[in-house]
Amino acid sequence: MAIDVSILGLGESGVGAALLAQKLGYTMWLSDAGKVKQDYSDELTIYELPYEEGSHSEARILSSDLIVKSPGIPNSAPVVQHALAKGIPVISEIEFASRHTTAKLIAITGSNGKTTTTGLTHHILKKAGYNVGLAGNIGRSFARLVADKEHDWYVLEVSSFQLDNIDGFKPWISMVLNITPDHLDRYGYNFGAYAASKLRIRENQDSNDFFIYCPDDAGTMQHITLAKGTPRAVPFSLQQTLAEGAFVQDASIHIHTHTHKNRFVMPIQDLALQGKHNVYNSMAAGIAACIVDIRKEVLRESLTDFKNEPHRLEVVAKVSGVEFINDSKATNVNSTWYALESMERPVVWIVGGVDKGNDYAALQDLVRKRVKAIVCLGIENMRIHQAFSPLVDMIVNTGSMKEAVRMAHHLAEKDDIVLLSPACASFDLFDNYEDRGNQFKLAVRDL
Ligand code: ADP
Repeated sequence: MAIDVSILGLGESGVGAALLAQKLGYTMWLSDAGKVKQDYSDELTIYELPYEEGSHSEARILSSDLIVKSPGIPNSAPVVQHALAKGIPVISEIEFASRHTTAKLIAITGSNGKTTTTGLTHHILKKAGYNVGLAGNIGRSFARLVADKEHDWYVLEVSSFQLDNIDGFKPWISMVLNITPDHLDRYGYNFGAYAASKLRIRENQDSNDFFIYCPDDAGTMQHITLAKGTPRAVPFSLQQTLAEGAFVQDASIHIHTHTHKNRFVMPIQDLALQGKHNVYNSMAAGIAACIVDIRKEVLRESLTDFKNEPHRLEVVAKVSGVEFINDSKATNVNSTWYALESMERPVVWIVGGVDKGNDYAALQDLVRKRVKAIVCLGIENMRIHQAFSPLVDMIVNTGSMKEAVRMAHHLAEKDDIVLLSPACASFDLFDNYEDRGNQFKLAVRDL
């Protein structure tokens, strides 16, 4: 008899899983407790995949052999709890997809830098001529790609929510870039639980596999001793030189892995991605490239000509000598820390939104050094005022992107930088971070 699967949540990962299940000849039940986005409902119709929305038919779902759950649905959701109580396996879409491919997997997680490092690693393999797919949290789901066309390699961006429901997921190369507080609401405000979830990326790896990590990162190092799996661990650091791994010496990155005969050396100033955080990202991707044994010339060229996705320290324009930078993707304090850290001229800082329990103290030193004025852009700005009013004379509230950009422009002088790096989620005033970044760019162009 055909296997019956229920797929919960019909966004990119749910629809990808449905397409793969269809290809495998499974019978299935597709269910979304909310409203399915038009693009996805159209797609399900085209593929003749009936679905329900607005509620979960629990009895039907609990009659399945397997449940594939979208990362947006917490394990605490009643339907998931009931399925688990009944002994039905509940897995994530990356687990599902990984069961149906023999491709080599490079999987990347971290609190910040996932998309950048995933894109960069993919770019390097692609440039080296590999048949490689880019999937996961970035663009298209892993299951969709596996259903669509088999690649020999996949570079995957994976979130902690996806890792929460793996079982046998086993990348050849895994990366944990960093672990800093984020999404703690889903982990009972327990940082250890969130860290453990990220480190699950290596739990099925053995001594033929590799785990790339950052010993400078306190969050990783606090929890790594509890991590399962026995991969060969390869570190990258800005604070120490290393016999194996990546580090910085004399303003160059050095990468040395046992698979690559000679050390790879490249000046930091030649890297396409600038800023300290991006040195970390480039080193992590570079280690993966050396493990794969990509030619040095190709690696060098790829690290030089990579173009990052928008909204990540994206230079938008110069208006009357003032540079405008869009870092809308900075939705937590840590990513904003790196943005401020990499600014070399006085900053008018646009910040605020939905604060996920931010500890602004970590930014105070940098704000004192780099920021001349703060433009708050959010419905609730009290905590920003509390944290920074002793340090910055000028803090103003604004209620729309247009107003924020005009105000920032007014406060900035020639050679200053206006930086949108909100350290917060965007849902109070915008649809998402892309909408926020796009509105910023439009407002700048309207000045
Ligand atoms: P993610 O996919 O993990 O959210 P992105 O690559 O989209 O990561 O970057 C998100 C934000 O974090 C951007 O503002 C970016 O400038 C910043 N960032 C990128 N890499 C790092 C890093 N290694 N450490 C801290 N912040 C980073």
